[in-house]
Amino acid sequence: MDLAFSAEDEAFRTEVGEFFRTELPADLARREAQGFHLNRSDLAEWQRILYRKGWVAPNWPKEFGGTGWSPIQKYIYELEFGLANAPEVNLIGLSMVGPVLCRFGSPELQQRFLQPIMSGDIWFCQGFSEPQAGSDLASLRTRAVKRGNDYVISGQKIWTTSAHFSDYMICLCRTNDAVSPQAGLSMILVPMDAPGVTVKPIETIDGDHTVNEVFLDDVVVPAANLVGDPDSGWNQAKFLLGNERTHNAMIGMLRRYMVRIPRLIATELQHGLSAAAAAEFERQLACLRIDVDALEWSVLRVLAGEEGPELAAAASALKVCGSEYLVRASELELDILGPQITPRHDPSPTSPATSLPAGASSFAPGRTTQHLYWHASTIFGGSNEIQRGIIWNTLRRR
Ligand SMILES: Cc1cc2nc3c(=O)[nH]c(=O)nc-3n(C[C@H](O)[C@H](O)[C@H](O)COP(=O)(O)OP(=O)(O)OC[C@H]3O[C@@H](n4cnc5c(N)ncnc54)[C@H](O)[C@@H]3O)c2cc1C
Repeated sequence: MDLAFSAEDEAFRTEVGEFFRTELPADLARREAQGFHLNRSDLAEWQRILYRKGWVAPNWPKEFGGTGWSPIQKYIYELEFGLANAPEVNLIGLSMVGPVLCRFGSPELQQRFLQPIMSGDIWFCQGFSEPQAGSDLASLRTRAVKRGNDYVISGQKIWTTSAHFSDYMICLCRTNDAVSPQAGLSMILVPMDAPGVTVKPIETIDGDHTVNEVFLDDVVVPAANLVGDPDSGWNQAKFLLGNERTHNAMIGMLRRYMVRIPRLIATELQHGLSAAAAAEFERQLACLRIDVDALEWSVLRVLAGEEGPELAAAASALKVCGSEYLVRASELELDILGPQITPRHDPSPTSPATSLPAGASSFAPGRTTQHLYWHASTIFGGSNEIQRGIIWNTLRRR
């Protein structure tokens, strides 16, 4: 297996880097780098730029609006995306719902949803988890009952990211009690403005609002919004979460930290950081860099298409490593910044730089928020304990 980039790949990398340098709005990149959560209105212009360029949905099949890039080109794009401090747009719609609709959706659903997801006119959230069904997703209780040409849906979802500014939820519902728990689930697209849908915010430990509870009380949804066949939701959910896990290696984001942490150490050395402390931070960074390099090679091996039963285990391993290395990287930043760190978060475009304490690094705001969010990344998309179980169960059968 050859893991070096070809001359064409290097040329592609230059083109992608140039695009981000010229097209990514500077203010957006700054706020992303500072670690703020950005919402739909913050991201609308950036999504339109990516859409116009034809680069908004690299993981979709080309006939549905994807780029047709090779796996290595997709990887290069993700790497440059991270290094440029580019923010993700509508991750659920573009990385999960789109691929599911391309694969399982009726032509009518594809016609209605795919183009608006790309342009940003329709945002999706993901309604899988419930108060008693997270890791054990198959035990979910939200019920969809067929009535004429509609489904009537009742139940509760929780931890629903971005529900407060989404147009639709991809909702996993129980449609059949007579079969095994996994076999009785269906995926239905629920309009968030339908009567009976109530969104309640959950304030997380960082003081921010990104996740919600969603209550569904006799919500009537056209049966045409069912994705694929009735009771086939479990397969679609596995496909969707598989996409999420591969993405969660987060190499672009980790490389971003590998670039900025040395700069941060250099800056802080000029502002009172002792040489001994700097040396210790350099040592921790070197250890992390070795792990990130190894992770990057693992990603490239998966992209090179080394098939086999280990592939499922590899996706889980990438997720575990990516999320845990992000926790380490952001913790290292917090240690370097020391007393400059504040728990404050303020994503509004008008306020941040001016409201910093005197002498504080421009990195300081948002750092705590982001560090806590990386802790959350060890839970969402399937917790790391569950991923370790998958790895063990796959490898012991070899
Ligand atoms: C920030 C954030 C955003 C999220 N966004 C979404 C979203 O948009 N849509 C959505 O549907 N969900 C979302 N989730 C929910 C997420 O998918 C679940 O939190 C996750 O699957 C874990 O489920 P749980 O919270 O019910 O924990 P539980 O399943 O109750 O697990 C509790 C603890 O027990 C451990 N555990 C459970 N079972 C096992 C086992 N068999 N072996 C070993 N350890 C085990 C878990 O690892 C965890 O540490 C989000 C979560 C977070 C934190």
